[in-house]
Amino acid sequence: MSLSDKILNMYFATHRTCNLMCKYCYIPEETKKEPKVNDKVIIDALILLIRKIEFEKFKIGTFCLHGAEPSLMEPESLAEIIKQVNLHWQKNETLGLNVSIQTNGLNFTKDYLETIKKLIINPKKLRISFSIDPPKQVHDYLRNDSYDKAVQNMGEALRMGFPVGILSVVSRETYKYLNEFGEWLNLYGEKSKTDGNPYKIKFKFATGESALTEEEIKEFSYFLLDNDLLQFSQILTPGYCQQRGNECIWYEFDIFGNCYSCNKAYNNDGIFADWKKESFESIVNKRRNLYISEFQNSECFECEYELLCNSGCPLDRNYTGDMRGKALECNFIKTVFAESEKKGKYIYDIINNKI
Ligand code: SF4
Ligand code: SF4
Repeated sequence: MSLSDKILNMYFATHRTCNLMCKYCYIPEETKKEPKVNDKVIIDALILLIRKIEFEKFKIGTFCLHGAEPSLMEPESLAEIIKQVNLHWQKNETLGLNVSIQTNGLNFTKDYLETIKKLIINPKKLRISFSIDPPKQVHDYLRNDSYDKAVQNMGEALRMGFPVGILSVVSRETYKYLNEFGEWLNLYGEKSKTDGNPYKIKFKFATGESALTEEEIKEFSYFLLDNDLLQFSQILTPGYCQQRGNECIWYEFDIFGNCYSCNKAYNNDGIFADWKKESFESIVNKRRNLYISEFQNSECFECEYELLCNSGCPLDRNYTGDMRGKALECNFIKTVFAESEKKGKYIYDIINNKI
């Protein structure tokens, strides 16, 4: 097993319940109704996970709190989690990493943020990624009228110096408000350029019933090209798991011992191992082979954009019709590169943000 296999880049899933009921929520109906987990159970599970990882001579790499809504815990508990993960990184001389959290933002009120800041002292120790689907009309429709509160809390986090990320989903609803969507991205993009915070703003495409049609994806691609918004696309940003296709590698461990590939498989069918009972060596091997045989369209093997795409995320691929086995983003990638190349801009320059 190579050294890089011994580093576990992971989500740590704290809850299966949430304080917001979005239209496209991925949590099964029956689990949404479960009571909120006691914070002590979460902290004990994390300490056990870290001990087992260290005992088996593995290390935590990237660590992101997730699922369904991790900020349901008290700020004191969140601060304790940050402390425990940092102790692990210090012990293993892992430098430059910080805990992150993916959140709907509703619990990150001024009071909550102030308590956290007081406990962790340096706000840079917690990267807060807000799920916001701009513009307001779209967010409110999909995310239960929560736009004002989420944006207000994001503003507080920015003011207090927490590194803030923004992750948006582009759906058929977004497509009705393209200009407003572009204006919103530009507004926060400018703020990012001048202040360095938000440190990251990215969008990904919705799947299932909310997904854009292939025709809409093409039109959306032209919209992004015309408005110079390509840098906000997750699939064009180097380093994301989707770009490795069937060889993607990421982990999501929950407090009960369940192992999932990532947040997209965070459901009962997505469990592939038990970290409380199995060795991490066995978990890594199982994870490596999890999607290795997922169907890929034969055209992908001859595609000039394969290095960026590799047929995309194995869980979000097209499953039917001519597009079967191709990435959700296939027509987006082809359109933006074909159009950019006509203007003398090439794939490596675009993915390295040299445009
Ligand atoms: S299944 Fe998709 S989202 Fe999950 S790790 Fe693999 S590429 Fe990433
Ligand atoms: S861009 Fe389309 S055809 Fe090319 S590798 Fe990706 S999914 Fe396959």
